[in-house]
Amino acid sequence: MKKQHYIANAWISHGQGEPIPVTDPSDGSILGEIARGTQEDVNAAVEAARSAIGDTFDGPWGRLSALERSRLMHRFAAAVTERAEELAALEAKDTGKSMKTARADAVALARYFEYYAGACDKLHGETLPYEQGYMVVTVREPHGVTAHIIPWNYPMQIFGRTVGASLAAGNACVVKPAEDASLSLLRLAELAAEVGFPAGALNVVTGFGHEAGAWLTAHSGVDHISFTGSTVTGRLVAEAAAKRHCPVTLELGGKSPQIVFDDADLDTALPVIVNAIVQNAGQTCSAGSRLLVQRGVYEKFMEAVADSFRALRTGPPALGLDMGPLVNRKQFDLVKGIVARAEADGIQVMARGQLHPDAAAAGFYQAAVLFRDVPHEHSIAQQEVFGPVLVAMPFADEAEAIQLANGTDYGLVAGVWTRDGARQLRMARKLRCGQVFINNYGAGGGVELPFGGVKASGYGREKGFEALLGFTVLKTIAVKH
Ligand code: NAD
Repeated sequence: MKKQHYIANAWISHGQGEPIPVTDPSDGSILGEIARGTQEDVNAAVEAARSAIGDTFDGPWGRLSALERSRLMHRFAAAVTERAEELAALEAKDTGKSMKTARADAVALARYFEYYAGACDKLHGETLPYEQGYMVVTVREPHGVTAHIIPWNYPMQIFGRTVGASLAAGNACVVKPAEDASLSLLRLAELAAEVGFPAGALNVVTGFGHEAGAWLTAHSGVDHISFTGSTVTGRLVAEAAAKRHCPVTLELGGKSPQIVFDDADLDTALPVIVNAIVQNAGQTCSAGSRLLVQRGVYEKFMEAVADSFRALRTGPPALGLDMGPLVNRKQFDLVKGIVARAEADGIQVMARGQLHPDAAAAGFYQAAVLFRDVPHEHSIAQQEVFGPVLVAMPFADEAEAIQLANGTDYGLVAGVWTRDGARQLRMARKLRCGQVFINNYGAGGGVELPFGGVKASGYGREKGFEALLGFTVLKTIAVKH
């Protein structure tokens, strides 16, 4: 299997760059190759997007009405639903995620497009009161060409939420998938062409981040950048954007706390808390990777969490176990190294999950690990691991819970488990992060709920109507009459 870029509704590759091998994380074998994007490829994709929009929104995509865009997006959502199994299988093979997670990703992708399809024709401006003799209105216009840099952990979902919102707002998109997980997004671009998107509305250029990604973010023809990935890369992207005054949204990493008070419904909390760290083998930006438990229930709850961890099974994606392999050798070595260092520093492993006997030795399988009594300052309690590793520590009262919860560089999500209504509200207001979930975590992934971070977790919001606004520019028009 050899894949080129998908630009202006055609498979294209410029230049002679060495292709990038596609590795199967379940056994380390080579599945095929993708094109290593050159500067010419990036230029071609941006030019295709610019022509689709047109200089004055008069191109084949730019001139479509909101209703026409909406109908195309609905058709795309239906096509994704129809091919959900094919797309999930492609994603599972490429990323190592379980078929269960990959199926859920395909469903979420369709849902993002449905949601944003329904929003296309509700994106209106306002009439503003002003001095006598004036009529002042605001209109929301697309930025023009938007660049979407996507990581490997949830390619289809992240495509759904950023590209879906951007297309709905009327932008033309250039997508740069992660070099480790490009297959599903190439297929989606082809699918968009099949359902009738005009050439150039959606383009996918594959390649390395420091090449194709960097050329795209520096390109003067890109009017907005939506970046999802690591905090370190996010800084590079923000610097590139700042050099040419290009607006950017950053969806970065996290070290999100799950805070369990003495009065919590522990039976309800337990499976949700465990799932929040093992879902997608912990390779989730919003993973609940720190467990803060009030002293009164610490021992009891930790025993229950440990039992759940011991039952977790990691193995080949096709077996439908709790977790598949990690995405690549680099991530695998990284997670293993972090766990080994914490153990060497004397941090206590309370429980480990199981490795299925069919997990190939050459695959990137990491069993779940639960650490207890972790010092708050230790790097394993401060840095994102991006693997199935949960660090737990006790706290005395609300004040300490807030201090610990807010005490990392990150601020993406927090979960709070308590039956006390006033405390729920106090905690929600004092936590420094973009989303707070009370007695749940993630609210089922809600497409409608704005998502994003503060501090090193980034800025700007994705999902919900808020994301749609971010993909527009507000123009004020004052008419003297
Ligand atoms: P990464 O930053 O290494 O790569 C992300 C993307 O950026 C890839 O497509 C990569 O090719 C590209 N890239 C790399 N260098 C670049 C450069 N100089 N210029 C432009 N693009 C460049 O991240 P990753 O390892 O693929 O993903 C894991 C990270 O993503 C984790 O930190 C995770 O928390 C984060 N993430 C965040 C969210 C969120 O919504 N907040 C969602 C998913 C993942």
